[in-house]
Order: sequence, then C-alpha cells, then structure tokens
Amino acid sequence: MFVLGLIFGSFLNSLSFRIPYILNYQSSVEEIPDMGLSFPRSFCPNCKNPLSIFSLIPVFSYLIQSGKCKNCKESISITYPFFEILLGILFALIFIKFNAINFLLILNCILVFTLILVARIDESFFKIPIALNLIFLFNGILLNLYNWTFNLGVLSFFISLFLLVSIKYLTDFILKKDSFGWGDIILISNLSLFFGIYNLPFILFVSSLSGIIWYFYKKRNALEKTIAFGPHIALSGIWLLFIL
Ligand SMILES: [Zn+2]
Repeated sequence: MFVLGLIFGSFLNSLSFRIPYILNYQSSVEEIPDMGLSFPRSFCPNCKNPLSIFSLIPVFSYLIQSGKCKNCKESISITYPFFEILLGILFALIFIKFNAINFLLILNCILVFTLILVARIDESFFKIPIALNLIFLFNGILLNLYNWTFNLGVLSFFISLFLLVSIKYLTDFILKKDSFGWGDIILISNLSLFFGIYNLPFILFVSSLSGIIWYFYKKRNALEKTIAFGPHIALSGIWLLFIL
C-alpha cells in the first residue's frame, strides 16, 4: 500500500499541476496551449522537456537525480517527493486501520487523495474545483449506501449546508465582506456526509484552529494575509479519519 501511495502521490502531483491550467486558474504555458489531464506527457516546468519513463518513478528518481532536472539542471521542488511520501504513508495507515483490501479502504483512499489535491489547489489559487467537490459528494453517497446510512448521510449533508450558509450570511453581514467561499461550505458539508453530522463540531473546531494558527504564522512572517480555508478543512478530515 505504501508503494501504491507513492504512485498515487506522483499522479496527485501531476493533477495539481494540470488542473489549474485546465480550469484556467492560471494562464496556459506558451509552448503547451492545450494541456489536458493526460496530454502532453509530464514535462519539466522549467525547460518543458518531456520527462523520461525513468524520471516518472516516484521519490527514487528525485533522489538519483539529486533533485535536479536531467536536462536543464534546474532544481525540482521538494514538494513533489514530499507529497509522494505523504500519500504513501497515509495509504499505508489506512491499510493498517482497515486491515483488508475492501470497499471501505478504497473509499477512504479516494477521500484522502482528493482532500490533499483540494488543499494544494486551494492554497495556491484560493479556489476549490467543483469537479473535486462532486467526487467527494459521490464518494460520501457510496459510503452511506455501503453502510446502510443513506438517510442519515443526506440529513447530515443538508443540516451542515444549512448551518454553514446561515453562518456565512451572518458573518458577511457583520464584516460587510465575503467571509468564506461556497467551495469551503460544500467541502465541509461533504465531510459531514462522509463522517456524519455529529463530527461537524470537530471539523469546524480543528479547521478553524489550524486556520487561525496559520494566519498568525503568516502575519508574523509578513506574508500575504489572506488564507485559503481548504487545506485546514482537509487536515481536519484526514485527522478525523484516523481517530474514528
Ligand atoms: Zn528542465
């Protein structure tokens, strides 16, 4: 499962690079105007040279090339091997938790994969792609069907949605500006669908606390003060998965 996690981590790196181009969050690369999910082959972001099959092996290729592109010698961001290893560890932990290859294991791996993808895209672009939220929704519905808790799941989703929309309008009214985005609201409601409404307080508490800590960290280091909420919601969801 660890190796599978590494491979999916590599896939996640590729998606978090491609999705912002496909959705026009970022203007396209001049040399590659029509970037798709699988086309063109992965390339070096600096020299645009396609990567060899060998360079696609997670982590090891990074170590062997000592973190530099073979062609232009530009350093490759440490985030690539970092997310490969992170996903490797998380997939292994999910396997230890469920102790079998079954449907629940697959659903939980999809949850973790998509949460980290959302976190990365939201952190860079302050946007949560609707397609990813739809994957969450579908994933949550499947889990509830599997556990025979469909009614509870749907109820959890709508209670959470109602509460969060009320909070949003209230804070928007008090602060006279956009407090948090629709992407965040739907993401949290999807987590309620997945984990049940009784875990909503945990999700809200952990994500707000982690968001506040991150805000003050950024403020102290004189970085940009706006924070994306997605990564903190993702953190609370992954945490919850392992303590339930
Ligand atoms: Zn290069």
